[in-house]
Amino acid sequence: MQASAEILASVFLGIRELVVPGATTKALDDAIEAIIREADCIPSFKGYHGFPASACISINEEVVHGIPSERELGEGDIVGIDIGLIKDGWHADSAESIPVGEVGEEAAKLLRVTQECLELGIEAIAPGRRISVIGTAIEQHARANGFSVVESLVGHGIGRDLHEDPQVPNFRCFTMPDPVMEEGLVIAIEPMINCGTKRVVTDRDEWTIRTADRRLSAHFEHTVALTADGPRILTRRGSGVAAF
Ligand code: MG
Ligand code: MG
Repeated sequence: MQASAEILASVFLGIRELVVPGATTKALDDAIEAIIREADCIPSFKGYHGFPASACISINEEVVHGIPSERELGEGDIVGIDIGLIKDGWHADSAESIPVGEVGEEAAKLLRVTQECLELGIEAIAPGRRISVIGTAIEQHARANGFSVVESLVGHGIGRDLHEDPQVPNFRCFTMPDPVMEEGLVIAIEPMINCGTKRVVTDRDEWTIRTADRRLSAHFEHTVALTADGPRILTRRGSGVAAF
C-alpha cells in the first residue's frame, strides 16, 4: 500500500502547478488521469458507482464529489481535489484543498485549520485506542476555530477495496461502531470542515455535495497505516516512508 500511496502523492505534486486561474477542472482531471495511467495505475474513482472522472474536484462551497467540467478556476477560489488509485490491487486515497492565487483571510484560515484537523486526527491514532479518538480530536480543533464538521460523510478503512470497515467519523459520533485500533490497520482520514453550518445538500447531478448555507468548505485526506510505532502517513507528499 506504501507503493500505491507514494504514486498518489506524486500525482498531487505533479498537478499543483496546474491549479491556476483560468484552468478548467476538466483539464485538471485529464492531467490527473494521464499521470495515473503513465504510472501503470488505475484511477479508482472513474466508474465508481458511475462517477464519470478520475478526480473529484470541488470548488469553494462544494464540499466533496464535484464533477470535473469546463468550469474555470478563479483567482481566490479554493479547490478541493480528491484522488484514488489502484496499484497491484491495492488502493490509496487522498485529498487536498488548494488555494487558487491569493485567497481571502477566511479561506486561508479554513485551509490551515482543516489541515491541522487532519494532522491532529492522525496523531490521535495508536494501537489499543478506539476509532472515536480521531473524530474527537478533529471536532475539538474545528470548533475551537469557529468552524463546523460535516457529519454525513466519513473516512474509512482502505486496502483491497476503496471503502472498507471501519467507518472513521470526523466528529464525536455516538451511533457508529467504535472498534479498538490494532497494528496493521489502514484507514483514510478525511475531515471536511465548513466555515458555517455543518449541514450539506446534494446537487441535482446526484454527486456534488455543497454546504447548505453556501459558505466555504475544505477537505484534506491521507491514507494512514497504524504501525507498532504509531501512525505512518502513506500518502505523505515528499519523500515517502522515510519522511515520517
Ligand atoms: Mg478521497
Ligand atoms: Mg476517502
